[in-house]
Amino acid sequence: MTAGGTVANSVAGEAGRRRTFAVISHPDAGKSTLTEALALHARVIGEAGAVHGKAGRKSVVSDWMEMEQARGISITSAALQFEYGDHVINLLDTPGHADFSEDTYRVLAAVDCAVMLLDAAKGLEPQTLKLFDVCRHRGIPVITFINKWDRPGLHALDLCDQLEERIGLRATPLNWPVGEAGHFTGLLDRRSGDMMTFERAPGGARISAEHRLTPDEAAAAHGDEWQAAVEEAELLDEYDEASFLAGKTTPMLFGAAVSNIGVARLLDVLVQLAPPPAARPDVDGTPHDLDQPFSGLVFKVQAGMDKAHRDRVAFVRVCSGRFERGSVVTHAATGRPFATKYAQAIFGRDRDTVDVAYPGDIVGLVNASALRPGDTLHAKEASVEFPPMPSFAPENFSVCRARDTSKSKQFRKGIEQLAHEGVVQVLRSDLRGDAAPILAAVGPLQFEVAAHRLEHEFGAAVTLERLPYTLARRTRADDRATLDAEHDVEVANRGDGAVLALFSDKWRLNSVQRRHPDLLLEPLVAGA
Ligand code: GDP
Repeated sequence: MTAGGTVANSVAGEAGRRRTFAVISHPDAGKSTLTEALALHARVIGEAGAVHGKAGRKSVVSDWMEMEQARGISITSAALQFEYGDHVINLLDTPGHADFSEDTYRVLAAVDCAVMLLDAAKGLEPQTLKLFDVCRHRGIPVITFINKWDRPGLHALDLCDQLEERIGLRATPLNWPVGEAGHFTGLLDRRSGDMMTFERAPGGARISAEHRLTPDEAAAAHGDEWQAAVEEAELLDEYDEASFLAGKTTPMLFGAAVSNIGVARLLDVLVQLAPPPAARPDVDGTPHDLDQPFSGLVFKVQAGMDKAHRDRVAFVRVCSGRFERGSVVTHAATGRPFATKYAQAIFGRDRDTVDVAYPGDIVGLVNASALRPGDTLHAKEASVEFPPMPSFAPENFSVCRARDTSKSKQFRKGIEQLAHEGVVQVLRSDLRGDAAPILAAVGPLQFEVAAHRLEHEFGAAVTLERLPYTLARRTRADDRATLDAEHDVEVANRGDGAVLALFSDKWRLNSVQRRHPDLLLEPLVAGA
């Protein structure tokens, strides 16, 4: 392409067909199962052109095997890309389980939408709530998928109430279950008024065949259950685009990822309702248009745990323009050039190199030791800087000391580097001195990562001593004397100048605040 206009048009067109999202959920809600089901559908539907009953089992089984293999690397990877009809779907991984950490939150800086996956029997769970808070704070629209409807669970209306009462999110269900959780017979499609029934795919190895029944057919076949679903559905709110995009309402879907039920509809809804990449605001709040030359945001940096390979991979979300491998871009924080010769597709069909990427896509850049989360990369001719990545409220605290005091120089250097990369936050207090900083993290696994890197990369083996705090609040230097006089409370300074007070739990915090109402004890909002 030679004419600038043509390039610009194609960037807008490519961005328009992309959907970049993450699944937010609590461990065991079914995120891995859903991810695999989504990719399986996209591939099967992509190849067959449409869903027509049973897909050829043999080929799908081999797809399944491939997906299983892909799953093996999903822990260290960032995004799964697949085509669905005319669309390109980028599904970003939110690390969960034991490795729940800052990265889990940071991923949400790189998506345009989130799918909140709830276990029908459990509803909202703690990790989902934490991630939802970040979505709300960032204004990310949320689609809700109620999973495991094949098993006994809460009543569908109770799940809607839970969302409204606990997080102020109004559900606008797009389909509605016929039969309670565990006695699932199908879904009422609220758009058409028809009933969808599914042939279960055992173990999810193939997509489930769907059948459409007219309301009369549904009433004849499912009598009372159908009638109950129709009556309940009349009480529900209708989908509303403006309030969905504003994060006030959530389109809700029901299904069972393990049997591939409701998964095709979720893909359709993503394509139809989830917003495509849009102009991202720069540090001054001015939207940076998609058809500007290349710009991207580093949202995650993964360090190799292997001493021999200091392979630092920076994951970049393309924000504007066309990314071309081999181009030299500018690292906004330092003004230095950065060569993109070793750009990688993360995982999915092409795992080796990525040559071209568009807004919404994720590119992995190797040898990226200068890059850190929140950094901007941009084409030389079009300078831009996006707002820095926020630091998140830590919940785990450990004192870190060098095992060998003669290594204090290496220790200090390593600690500075880890703080700089955002692996952990580093807090210091006069009481403990420079040789014993407090490491603070969202998830405890970060301490292991920090200790491993300090030993193997910086040559300073360390000991870590867990502290009994779970809560940090921002305070003022002037409040220090009052807080120091309290037992079980510690005050420490963060590198960015913030003064933090550490508490064992919210009861301790509340009791201190009650006795000293004038103390400033401000939450460090996740995503703030
Ligand atoms: P993750 O921890 O969120 O990634 O959850 P997984 O995808 O590993 O699923 C956790 C467990 O729930 C596994 O045993 C799955 O087989 C099961 N599971 C996932 N989806 C469903 C579903 O729709 N119905 C039922 N009954 N089980 C499911």
